This record gives sequence, structure tokens and C-alpha cells, in this order.
Amino acid sequence: MITTTEHFLPPDAAEPPKRCRLCDETKPVDEFRRDVRYSDGRSSYCIVCDKRKSREWRARNKERAEENQAAWLAANPGYHAEWRAAHPDSMAKWRAAHPDYKKKRRERLIAKKISISG
Ligand SMILES: [Zn+2]
Repeated sequence: MITTTEHFLPPDAAEPPKRCRLCDETKPVDEFRRDVRYSDGRSSYCIVCDKRKSREWRARNKERAEENQAAWLAANPGYHAEWRAAHPDSMAKWRAAHPDYKKKRRERLIAKKISISG
């Protein structure tokens, strides 16, 4: 018979909590991305820090970020079409949640063109 304690243990309970090297917080291991480059199979940074680091890196290295993305897309050509096929309602939902996206995007593009041409 399963005791209540066993029942509520998460599947990764054998792995002890891990401390993030960036924010120094100790968190459950499932708040760390799986990464085979690390000896314990988990990144040294929690997902929150990892996302922030990536965002900061992309902001500092815009060109390389765009190159990386282009390379990734070239290596995974059907990814977006497959994702959309697997999530047929996502576009409609997103549009409903962002009704003035098109207008704002247009305004941004116009502003960009003006700043490029001086
Ligand atoms: Zn962290």
C-alpha cells in the first residue's frame, strides 16, 4: 500500500534541491533545465536566471542572436509549420489577446524606416 508521503513525492525526489549559481537560491531540481554538459545533468542556473541571462545576451549580441536564430530555423525548417499544425487554435487565441498587434507592428516598422533613412 502507498503511504501518503510516498504518494506526494515528486518523481525526481531522489535528486536533492540545487543551488542556483546566479541568484544563490536553493530550488527543486525541476526548476533547472536539463543540460548534458553538466555532471549532474542540470544547468547551474535556475530557469528564471537562465531566461534572464539569455534575454540580456540577445540584447547585447543582436546580430549573433539573429544569426543563431536563422541557423536554427535552417536546421529545423518545418518546425513552425509543425507547431502550428499541433496547436491549431494558438494563432486565433493570440490574435484575440493582442487585437492591436498589427497596427503597432506597422507603426514600429514605419518608425524604424524613418530612423534608418535619417
Ligand atoms: Zn537563479
